[in-house]
Amino acid sequence: MPRVALAAALALLAACAPRAPGDGVGGPRSLDVAAGGARFRLVYGPEDEGEARSVAAALALAAPRAQRFGPLAVPVTITLHPSHAALEHAAARPGYPWLRAWARYATIELQSPRTWRDGGLLGRLVGARRGRVAELLAHELAHCAMWQRAGDAQTWLYRGIPRWFTEGLASVAAGQEERHGDLAALARFYDGAAASPAAGAGGADPLSESEALYLGQAELVYGAAHHAFAFLASRYGDARVRAVLDGMGAGLSFPSAFRAAIGIEPAAFEAEFRRYVAWRGFER
Ligand SMILES: [Zn+2]
Repeated sequence: MPRVALAAALALLAACAPRAPGDGVGGPRSLDVAAGGARFRLVYGPEDEGEARSVAAALALAAPRAQRFGPLAVPVTITLHPSHAALEHAAARPGYPWLRAWARYATIELQSPRTWRDGGLLGRLVGARRGRVAELLAHELAHCAMWQRAGDAQTWLYRGIPRWFTEGLASVAAGQEERHGDLAALARFYDGAAASPAAGAGGADPLSESEALYLGQAELVYGAAHHAFAFLASRYGDARVRAVLDGMGAGLSFPSAFRAAIGIEPAAFEAEFRRYVAWRGFER
């Protein structure tokens, strides 16, 4: 953008910037937002004034979806970071170039969508990017809602929730099925792992051994998590999924809460899902 146009654009942004607490020159700013019955605080630098308002608008779409399996009972602080390096630092997750956000109990670290480089031409179109921001926020906020229902600010990390459940819940709540390979692709992965356990992924299971696959084959892990959780929710119902979270909220570990609400061990459910996929139950 030419310098004059940039200056004009910045002047326009400054003219319609909302008055918010902490609105010092050059310092961090904040904006309080209510959406979907939940409360949020956006924190951002002066360079992200416009992005903060886009994120606030996206929350109207994201917040209702995020609460399918539990309410956002505790207000969530969403911090916009001006670069990917700043996000990795705040998330304490170096070496994840595809990372765009990181959720904890009542916070989300978000790389400013202004700096997202993925998505090519489509990603640069404002409408497409807005939808992508809402989808990502729905996913991250679903994590917060899950942890808030399953624990408190001290205990949320210590329930022993497996990655397939955490990521699957967020992906299903955000409606991200189209981002993943289909069940036929997962079935082919299981076929290959069974035929040559020493080859490729070493036969590791994307549900129970996700750590071994996470760095190199994150998409496989996220896809399997989505499908396994969707299978859980459709077979046993959302109410039982919420009951798993309530069991943890009452102090149970994940395996105990899962057993109490679903009626079988987590490992038995994982085996049930693997059989469903490997035997192409989804084609019937
Ligand atoms: Zn996630």
